[in-house]
Amino acid sequence: MIQQALLEKFEQFTAPNELKRAGIYPYFRPIEENHDTEVIIHGRKLLMFGSNSYMGLTNHPKVKEAAKKAIDRFGSSCSGSRFLNGTSQLHIELEEKLAAFTGKEAALVYSTGFQTNLGTVASMVGRHGVIILDELDHASIIEGSRLSFSRVLKFAHNDMNDLEGILKTFPHDKVKMIVIDGVFSMEGDICNLPEITRLAEKYGALVMVDDAHALGVIGNQGRGTADHFNLTDQVDIIMSTFSKSLASIGGFVASTKDVINYLKHHSRPMIFSASIPPSAAAAALAALEIIQEEPERMEALWDNTHYISKAIRDIGFDTNTSETPIIPFYIRDNQVTFQFTQRLYEEGIFVNPVVSPAVPSDSSLIRMSIMATHTRCQLDEAIGKIEQIASELQVFAERH
Ligand code: PMP
Repeated sequence: MIQQALLEKFEQFTAPNELKRAGIYPYFRPIEENHDTEVIIHGRKLLMFGSNSYMGLTNHPKVKEAAKKAIDRFGSSCSGSRFLNGTSQLHIELEEKLAAFTGKEAALVYSTGFQTNLGTVASMVGRHGVIILDELDHASIIEGSRLSFSRVLKFAHNDMNDLEGILKTFPHDKVKMIVIDGVFSMEGDICNLPEITRLAEKYGALVMVDDAHALGVIGNQGRGTADHFNLTDQVDIIMSTFSKSLASIGGFVASTKDVINYLKHHSRPMIFSASIPPSAAAAALAALEIIQEEPERMEALWDNTHYISKAIRDIGFDTNTSETPIIPFYIRDNQVTFQFTQRLYEEGIFVNPVVSPAVPSDSSLIRMSIMATHTRCQLDEAIGKIEQIASELQVFAERH
């Protein structure tokens, strides 16, 4: 029986209904077909500017072929955990290639990036240690830190004085771990890794970087944030996901052999959850190969990114600190952000709204994600619609 107090809680949760009534509910839209930069929803073609497939590889013939072959060889699922019956040869091959790619001794594949952070952050430092987070770290890092029983402290976003202030309060030999997003998922800015690793060295702390939005995007051949700053040896743990540039589903953590061996035998979200199907591992392997073989993809991604971020700024939007293919444009009002998203949707452009509580209401924004495979024509179409709707909704008159 659902108790009265709970019934009331669910009944009173009416926010989605209000958005639905106003015709501006933007979530759970069922995609009927996905052709990389174009999708079909309710029989209508839309340009996709809300996907994390930065390299545009989910429809690449080699990626699809690899996944199909893996189904023929292994079936559709491992039907079990990595720990027991769920490790295929493809999982091992993928781990070896990811370790080499990130410049680490070993890697461990999890079922999602979220689980990777849960499992790694929760088991690293233990109940006598301290975990220090950037306040804008991804939710999975926050959840992992909650499961850790460690003391958890947050520093203001990218504020190195604040970080140092926290580090200073502990003796050098106190076990501490700093966890940051390499590229922050909402606003697309890059962490200040040179300063973070310098402080970590000075005060004695381990450094873990979440490269979900950095892999395939920054660093030599897309090796990520540590490589981008030439600091691979100073970063102790690198994690990332397959659900963005690697055109699949799953996640991994890379570090020393000893760290990985420890995680393999302590990390509950890996041990007690089924592994990714071999077809997903095969797709990620193929994507990883393509990224290294086709550097022109990363160039195209950056060309597109520079082109669109300039255009968005020229329209008059504040795109803030974005340095990556995540292009936020600030609307600074939840309701108008939903209206803007809906109007773009009606005009055939799919983007994601980011509103409170994900960000403070006066920082609500629309997030465009750029792909290597967007054509100039598609970018121009999106820019034209954004400009048209900005004027229609009088965004600048109201907010600036
Ligand atoms: N870390 C960051 C920074 C992310 O943005 C995401 C996904 N949005 C994740 C981790 C989780 O990855 P996954 O989708 O593979 O669970």
